[in-house]
Amino acid sequence: MPKGYDFISDSPPMYRQSRHTTFEHDSHTALAKLHTFTVDDLPPHKWRNHMYEFEAWLQAEMLKPNAQVSTDLTQFSARFGGILRDWWISLGEYIQALFIQIPDFNQALYLLYDEFCRLPHLYEDQFRYHRQTTIGRKFFVGGNWKCNGTNEEVKKIVNVLNEGQVPSQDVVEVAISPPFVFLPVVKDLLRPDFHVAAQNCWVKKGGAFTGEVSAEMLLNLGIPWVILGHSERRLILNESNELVGDKVKYALSQGLKVIACVGETLEQREAGSTMDVVASQTKAIAERVSDWSNIVLAYEPVWAIGTGKVATPAQAQEVHSELRKWLHANTSPEVAATTRIIYGGSLNGANCKELAAQPDVDGFLVGGASLKPEFIDIIKSAEVKKNA
Ligand code: PEP
Repeated sequence: MPKGYDFISDSPPMYRQSRHTTFEHDSHTALAKLHTFTVDDLPPHKWRNHMYEFEAWLQAEMLKPNAQVSTDLTQFSARFGGILRDWWISLGEYIQALFIQIPDFNQALYLLYDEFCRLPHLYEDQFRYHRQTTIGRKFFVGGNWKCNGTNEEVKKIVNVLNEGQVPSQDVVEVAISPPFVFLPVVKDLLRPDFHVAAQNCWVKKGGAFTGEVSAEMLLNLGIPWVILGHSERRLILNESNELVGDKVKYALSQGLKVIACVGETLEQREAGSTMDVVASQTKAIAERVSDWSNIVLAYEPVWAIGTGKVATPAQAQEVHSELRKWLHANTSPEVAATTRIIYGGSLNGANCKELAAQPDVDGFLVGGASLKPEFIDIIKSAEVKKNA
């Protein structure tokens, strides 16, 4: 923090409304120590969620009237101390120095918040990139029922879903994707905090396209989401990257939200072309779409779908992270930071938590297990992210 810090010119706008104070303080030793740590010293999946949480804590504190320094400092150390020892000890020392120097708790908080906002500059792009990546990416769980179900079975599954105790909508977004014919009944019976998704839609406006269902029809039924480019459609029905890209573009243009699937076959993985395959599938979408805010990208390795052979957390994380880098390089840093990349392939209640804990896994697309009560456990795995 620079000496002679001027609250009026150097503080965030919210503080500038407050009284004018120019002061110097002597917490340079603690701050210098803080500067000696770099992000490389810490495993990113550990620190970045805590930084986000820390920022949220600061913001919440600033909104509280008459906060008490002692109570809040105790709460602060209970919550953040010891999690990431060296980092937080340094930060803690710095904060204490700040609070001693500036007896007005709110003033100190504002200054701390301002300083915290400058931290990314100390740690260059890497920090900023990682910090951004957790922000705004709500965990997403899709249930793909594929071509399964009778009228009676559908009602039973919906009952189980309706009775399930799951985290709030602030923590997880859920979309249930039954076959077309069951969309209306599922929409009518399903709890309001879960969305409904179709499994496909036609590439353009409806008309003389026998057997197809258009995006307009889905919207007319009040269906907000659609899965596009599922590997079963790419491989069995020969949907090309271009067709999938066109479908994504059209569905978005009509106001649908899209779960766009990409993934490599076993042969492609063994040939070492996983990234080339998923990059060209994603490129066909990126070439046609500029706004990614209504797209969830589902990485579904074909060899893991319906085979019982789930990708290891490391395998999933590797592709998700590469996909995010691809988005960063080929769309924009914002798209890379905010687009949810979810995993699909033989996910179940037993393996979901470990996968959910991966930093670039933002949720799941679930096939077989979405027809079973364990789907509730999979939705609950969103808590892993919250508590990471
Ligand atoms: C899917 O079809 O999208 C899928 C992930 O299937 P499963 O979970 O059955 O492997």
